[in-house]
Amino acid sequence: MSGWRPPKGGKNGGCLCGAVRFECRSIYDVIYCHCSKCCHWSGAPAVLSANVPGGDFSLIKGTPEAYRSSEQGLRHFCSACGTHLYFINDGPFVSINVLALNDSEDVRPRLHQCVASKLEWFTITDDLPQYPDSRIPAPGREP
Ligand SMILES: [Zn+2]
Ligand SMILES: [Zn+2]
Repeated sequence: MSGWRPPKGGKNGGCLCGAVRFECRSIYDVIYCHCSKCCHWSGAPAVLSANVPGGDFSLIKGTPEAYRSSEQGLRHFCSACGTHLYFINDGPFVSINVLALNDSEDVRPRLHQCVASKLEWFTITDDLPQYPDSRIPAPGREP
């Protein structure tokens, strides 16, 4: 079992231009995703997301645009500055772009998922657990 712990308490965040602001009252999990959709959407070779229980997430200011990237998946972004903000699907969590939080320093990743889709030249140099797809153990349930 890993020594990973979620950050204590909540975090606020928002987009680069400030038109959209949101509040996360808790963070349940923090995950690197290497799937092609996340990477294409973000323009980065890996995306770091914080899973926030739906009831602990609120918009404070503005209304982001949403793009339906799959049957259940909606990717929200600021229509003014283009910042990638959060992803929702039919699950219980809102998946927040960690780098859109005001302070990401203590929002540390727990694991890598979708490593089977990873760019070959992108080398993971940390020793976090790696999973080939999005079937990952819940926090505290690591083997
Ligand atoms: Zn913006
Ligand atoms: Zn992904």
